[in-house]
Amino acid sequence: LFQSVELAPRDPILGLTEQYNSDTRSHKVNLGVGVYYDDDGRVPLLRCVHKAEVDRVQAQLAHSYLPIEGIAKLNRGARELVLGKDSEAIKSERCVTVQSIGGTGALKIGADYLRALLPDAKVAISKPSWENHRALFEKAGFEVVEYPYYDPETHGLNLDGMLDFLKSLPAKSIVVLHACCHNPTGVDPTPEQWTEIAKVVQDKELIPFMDIAYQGFGDGLQADAAAVRLFVEKGLNCLISTSFSKSFSLYGERIGALTLVTDSAEEAARVLSQVKRVIRTNYSNPPTFGGAIVAEALNTPELFAMWEEELGEMRQRIKEMRSQLVNKLAENGVNMNFDFVMAQKGMFSYSGLTAAQVDKLREEHAIYAISSGRICVAALNSKNIDTVAKAIASVIKG
Ligand code: PMP
Repeated sequence: LFQSVELAPRDPILGLTEQYNSDTRSHKVNLGVGVYYDDDGRVPLLRCVHKAEVDRVQAQLAHSYLPIEGIAKLNRGARELVLGKDSEAIKSERCVTVQSIGGTGALKIGADYLRALLPDAKVAISKPSWENHRALFEKAGFEVVEYPYYDPETHGLNLDGMLDFLKSLPAKSIVVLHACCHNPTGVDPTPEQWTEIAKVVQDKELIPFMDIAYQGFGDGLQADAAAVRLFVEKGLNCLISTSFSKSFSLYGERIGALTLVTDSAEEAARVLSQVKRVIRTNYSNPPTFGGAIVAEALNTPELFAMWEEELGEMRQRIKEMRSQLVNKLAENGVNMNFDFVMAQKGMFSYSGLTAAQVDKLREEHAIYAISSGRICVAALNSKNIDTVAKAIASVIKG
């Protein structure tokens, strides 16, 4: 059966972490990860999560099955978080939300469902995009194309290129948009640019699939949801994949949500029945524990306030690391302008480092980054920032 099976290529990011783990140099730093670390280099256990966990354990609940669509309180909380409590789409009950296995699971359920609805549609992802977008939509059976996004000259957005490309897509093509904190570049459209993007999506009858994996890491919970709300307020049908992995530091619990915005409550009921079939035939129903923790945090005012504060601390720490990196590169004699690092949003930065410079960083300085030059700013801290800035300066100066 397995004789002719070929070895699949290693996942580029997980492969890098394996290499990092086997590196014996004690001063090694892994900037290749997609995880938020605190100033001590640890994945934090948020106080709000700990409180909800303790409460849940003390309640001594049995481990039964969840409904196919997951925990109702989680789904309501996730929907209100992204669309806003006062959203007309929520009030008119035309949104459907299901709990998912992380943001990846939300994308996968959405992709499988769309494939049944629009078997011949193209899926357009940004160039570059999260490395799993292409594979995920291709595995669901779609042809995947890339719209221009990042402009290496300006270290910013190639808006004209993006809009021209979107205008050339056939109606009913699916456009995957990073709602905030673009991974891997950190480059987000401005509110004005989002307005232009939304207009083209609407005029050309494209289907927006908004991926929001970092809500709260850019400018705050409400500000980071602005793009999604814009599309929904325009009356567009859209899909929204939410991940709680980063924002609750609950990576391994695999919690996310898929929200589908339809035209009416009656349509929503039909859509939900179909999405439930996709879930039932994949993994039947989602796991409980992490979802229950997030559901409590989203729906208990005391826990929500605690969470918002902790998210704010993470966001501020990342901003501080961005500014220290820029200053320290200058102090180390780099005369290139790195201010663009300050304008980028979220955990990542397209640093402008070349693949050769990234190799040199790893080989000579034990600092690991992705060959595209993506670094995780959230892996920098007060103990490693000097070493990292010095090393980056030395590879840039050659
Ligand atoms: N979308 C984007 C843009 C991401 O960066 C990630 C995680 N790296 C995901 C989706 C998937 O999130 P999760 O880990 O919750 O599956």
